[in-house]
Amino acid sequence: MQSEIPDHLRRLVIERAGNCCEYCLLPQWAALHKHEPDHLIPRQHDGKTEEGNLALACFRCNRYKGPNVGAFDPVTGQLVPLFNPRLHKWADHFVLEGATIRALTAEARVTIKLLHLNDEDHITERRHLLDAGLYG
Ligand SMILES: [Zn+2]
Repeated sequence: MQSEIPDHLRRLVIERAGNCCEYCLLPQWAALHKHEPDHLIPRQHDGKTEEGNLALACFRCNRYKGPNVGAFDPVTGQLVPLFNPRLHKWADHFVLEGATIRALTAEARVTIKLLHLNDEDHITERRHLLDAGLYG
């Protein structure tokens, strides 16, 4: 799948994201698997392979996101679009509280839930990075 994204576009996506996952902010160097360009609108929904439709995602975020573009808000029950790094600023939607990512918006709530951003292993990893001054 990765080979379908041209090298110049892959480089742009990585550099634009500062080589960190645009959902959970995990730096590439701290990840076991390579971060991947994620199609914000998935190809199966006719999303194009172009810079405005790509975000850098860590392996876990990308797998959990899959072909989803939205999810049901656990608070309101409404269908809400996922956080979109091309349209939204991370700090407008999320806040870091210790090693936990808290939602400021409905988009953030559904993204945290769907992408499992606060699973125990994520939080443990984040805590180690924070302790070392290497996160956020
Ligand atoms: Zn991630």
